[in-house]
Formats: sequence, structure tokens, C-alpha cells
Amino acid sequence: MANRFQAPKGTRDLLPPETAAWAAVEAVARRVFGLYGYREIRTPIFEDTELFTRGVGAATDIVGKEMYTFADKGERSLTLRPENTAPVCRAFLEHGMDRLPQPVRLFYIGPQFRYERPQKGRYRQFHQIGAELVGGKGAESDVEVLLMLVRFLGELGFRDLRILINTVGDAASRRAYREALRTYLLPLREELSEDSRRRLDTNPLRILDTKSREEQELLVGAPRLESSLTPEAGTHFRQVLSALEAFRLSFQVEPRLVRGLDYYTNTVFEIVSEDLGAQNAICGGGAYEGLIEELGGSPTYGVGFAIGEDRLVEVLPADSLARRGAPRPVLVAPMGAVGEQVESGVRVVTRIVEDLREAGVAAIESGARGGRLFELAEKLGAPAIVFVGEDELVEGTLSVRNVATREQEKLPKRDATARLRQFFP
Ligand code: AMP
Repeated sequence: MANRFQAPKGTRDLLPPETAAWAAVEAVARRVFGLYGYREIRTPIFEDTELFTRGVGAATDIVGKEMYTFADKGERSLTLRPENTAPVCRAFLEHGMDRLPQPVRLFYIGPQFRYERPQKGRYRQFHQIGAELVGGKGAESDVEVLLMLVRFLGELGFRDLRILINTVGDAASRRAYREALRTYLLPLREELSEDSRRRLDTNPLRILDTKSREEQELLVGAPRLESSLTPEAGTHFRQVLSALEAFRLSFQVEPRLVRGLDYYTNTVFEIVSEDLGAQNAICGGGAYEGLIEELGGSPTYGVGFAIGEDRLVEVLPADSLARRGAPRPVLVAPMGAVGEQVESGVRVVTRIVEDLREAGVAAIESGARGGRLFELAEKLGAPAIVFVGEDELVEGTLSVRNVATREQEKLPKRDATARLRQFFP
């Protein structure tokens, strides 16, 4: 009979051994973010819908097309979180973190949900590792999160990722630019796609993001945001770039980078990998000056990023330590009648296996014999087989066979355990 149930479209099961790489990546994130003083926050998987319509912006694709919104039995409109910056800022205000010493440094790891057309590297349930620095000072904050991001990716073994960076200006720059862009595009209105025509009225900056060749050509002569920047926004951006140069981070200024979320101001950035196909962005981020205020707080500078964990794991470098995963357990094989032997109500082998675990050796018992046992060890990736026969029990020894070298030694229990420990750094 065919399988009746499958994971819903756009979702997937993460299975071993891949889950070991996920756990390793997350462990590196926790360690590196900790070096910068960031601590973990876990917000609910669903929030009031209005948090996103206000926070992310009603004119964005996320809010307009991609949200999983439903009414619960109490008729509240709830939405599975499509991103985590708005929830973190909501929690920041709800728990009075604006009264803590500023800035507040937070990171999160978890699933996000967007109703997008699934393809390689794009899922409806995907996972983000992100950080937010809230209540800091402009350019300095931007540089801190970028340094942390690059250190994290560097520790995972990435060497040749590109940082694309741009400024979308402060609110005043954006207002001026929006008008300049609209004035330029209005005469071309009929040549724009339906989506872009709609954006012309709601969010003209997003048209710069277009993937269509024809539209990209129309945009060649468009005014640059640079020319609408206020002096403050210009200084902010130059400060960020010169700090990145001072730290020797390689980046590329990408004047067309605007990103899909409304809350960004000033610095925005993206990290792309040539090893991914069409969906090549690994990470997106930027500063947001208006978001906390939009959610009812006082004006607060925030900056953060979100890394797509699914894509990150997919392009982990071959030599990344995170690929290695945890070593597999050794196999403990009782010989002859030892398998049935009981002492003080417990099987003797069970006690031996548990003693190994106590000593930090991952171990499982196997009932296989002879050639089947070796085959099984190879299939499971067990680094060693431990034989326990009558002789071993009488002598207080264990026979340890190294699966890779095929060498076998009989050693006193303590020495055998020490030998096995070496497989579990
Ligand atoms: P965003 O929140 O849109 O700035 O996205 C940040 C990062 O999350 C992107 O660079 C992607 O790596 C990842 N991401 C966003 N949407 C998806 C998706 N539908 N499937 C997988 N990864 C995604």
C-alpha cells in the first residue's frame, strides 16, 4: 500500500545524520554569539496577526501573500511567524527590556513560516538563526552584528561568501527617494509588471528588487538613492563601510539592494553563496529605527540579521567541523552464553554497556554474530566492536576490535575503556 501520509507541501523531515550538522551549526552559533554577549530568546511560534501587518508592513510580499493566518476558536486572528524581528521587538517592549541597560543583545534559533512556492532552498517551514541588537548606537551597532555574523560563518569554515551592503537611508531620505523614483517610473507605468505597478503606489523601492530582465533595463536610468540621502544617513553609511574596511571584511556595495521588509532603515545587507542556485541568499539583515516605535515604544535603534539555516547547512564547506557529526556508538557483542547471564537481577552485558556509557563511551549491544556483526558495524559507522566472552568475564577484560584497522586486543577493563574513550573526543 502506498504511504497515506506525507509531510505537508513545503515542509520536510530533518533526519539523522543531517540533524547532527544542524545541531553542530547551532552549537557554533551559541558559542560565537556568546562571545559578543548575546543571549537566547524564544518567542511563540504564532503571534497576533497585527504584529506583522504593522511591523513587517502591509505592502510587503510577506504580509500580502505569504502569511499562514488563521482564526482560533476564540476568533482571534493569529499568524505563524514569518520572521522573528517583529516578535523579538514585541517581547522587548512587553518585558520592559527598554528599561534594562542598553543595548540589549538577543539571538534566536527556530522555524519560520511563509506560504511561498516551494523549490530547492525555499520551504514553507524553514529555519532561521538570527540576532538583534536593540537600543544601541547607529553605525557602531551595525558593525558589531556584521563582525559577529562573519565570525560565525568563518568558524563554520566558509571562506568566500560575499557581503552585499547598501543603505536605504533614514525616514527622510526614503521619503525623498520614494518620490524621485515614482516620478521616474510613472511615465513607464504601462511597461511594468502588474506587481510592480501595484508597488508603484504602495512601495516603489521594492521595484528595484525585480528579477525581470525587462524591468531591470527600465531601471538603468533610475535615480540612485544615494542622491536622496540626508547628510546624517550618508555619514552613517560611510562610517559603517570604513569600519568594515578597517576589519578587512570583504564586501560589495550593491545600490539596488533594498530587501523585502518595510522596517529597514539605513544599513541593509545580504550574504550570498555561489554554491546555491536561484535562492542564493544565506542571510539578510539590516537596521530598523522605526519598528519599536511602530509597536508602541519610544524611538529605538535596532539592527539584526537572519540566516536561513536550511540553506546554510546545504552549503556547509566539505571540511567544516560541523559536518563531522557525533561519533556513532561502539557495538558490544556478548559471546556464547554470556548474553543470557544474569547477576543481581540484571543481565551482565547490560551492566557492561551501561559502565561504558558512564565512562563517556557511546555504546549499544548487538546480538549479531560473525560476519554479520562486522557488516553491521560498518553500516552503522561503529568505530569499534567490544567482545565479551566467558574468558573476558572471568579475567575482567574486554576484547576491543578497531573496525577501521581490524586490529583486536584483549585489555583489562579500565584500559579497554580508556582506549574506547579516544573515539569520543
Ligand atoms: P528574510 O527574513 O526574508 O530577510 O530572510 C533571511 C534568510 O532566511 C534568507 O536569506 C534565506 O536564507 C532564509 N529564507 C527566507 N525565506 C526562506 C524560505 N522560504 N525557505 C528557506 N529559507 C528562507
